[in-house]
Amino acid sequence: MDQKQLRDNTAIVTGGSRGIGRAIVLALSGQGADCAFTYTAHQEAAEALADEIRALGQRALPIRLDVRDFEGAKTMIEQVKGEFGRLDILVNNAGITRDRSLMGMSREDWADVIDTDLTGVFNTTRACIITFLKQKRGNVVNVSSVSGIRPMAGQVNYAAAKAGIIGFTKSLAQEVAPYNVRVNAVAPGFIETDMTSLLGEKFRDKALQQIPLGRFGTAGEVAQAVLFLVSEASHYITGQVLQIDGGLGM
Ligand code: NAP
Repeated sequence: MDQKQLRDNTAIVTGGSRGIGRAIVLALSGQGADCAFTYTAHQEAAEALADEIRALGQRALPIRLDVRDFEGAKTMIEQVKGEFGRLDILVNNAGITRDRSLMGMSREDWADVIDTDLTGVFNTTRACIITFLKQKRGNVVNVSSVSGIRPMAGQVNYAAAKAGIIGFTKSLAQEVAPYNVRVNAVAPGFIETDMTSLLGEKFRDKALQQIPLGRFGTAGEVAQAVLFLVSEASHYITGQVLQIDGGLGM
């Protein structure tokens, strides 16, 4: 008997080519989901990931999409439904940082982060929600951050976007619950990816002192939490924010 939890499901993961998104794609396809995922710049990484998904026996669809593109998000949903025939799961993972103090923050630093990290979530979710409502089945997981709960100095743009995602998650969860559509968020702490690889030694040491479990997390650990939230194991959970942060944000 096939014990895979997501057999016959199809998923879209934004920002799937690297880091946390890549680990989420592998976790979902490892449990039997066909996976579409987006990327913007790293086409080689996206194609390599598509090969890995196919090696797991699932269908793969890499799509070049900037999540800031409202019309592009609509086209992507149609493309995925056309290719896979159904859509069950949306994971809004794509995100960037442009950390600096407020007095040094440009209009572009602000807009890039808000448009990608927050409006991007609106664009893709808006594009697929009608499908979920009509079929009375669907599952959305948004990747927020501990910065949206317990922010640090020097990232007002990122903290605002990630806190915004939490408000978005809780409001939408109430709106669509009567249609059997669940909406949750994960809030990772410091996770070893390209995003955190640029942090200086001094900053890392200071951060480590604040993490009760005493280490940065892995992308795979975040992916396991997302897998739980999109699987039947969590079917009575909606509107929640699951922190994967070694205790940092408690
Ligand atoms: P990452 O390694 O920098 O990867 C970012 C991913 O997002 C890449 O796949 C990238 O595509 C994609 N992306 C960037 N801008 C995009 C856009 N405009 N449209 C579509 N895709 C875009 O980041 P990560 O560390 O895995 O972070 C993933 C998510 O987790 C983000 O939302 C981040 O805020 C959140 N998070 C991360 C941490 C952490 O410590 N790493 C902690 C808390 C929350 P390309 O490969 O094509 O560039």
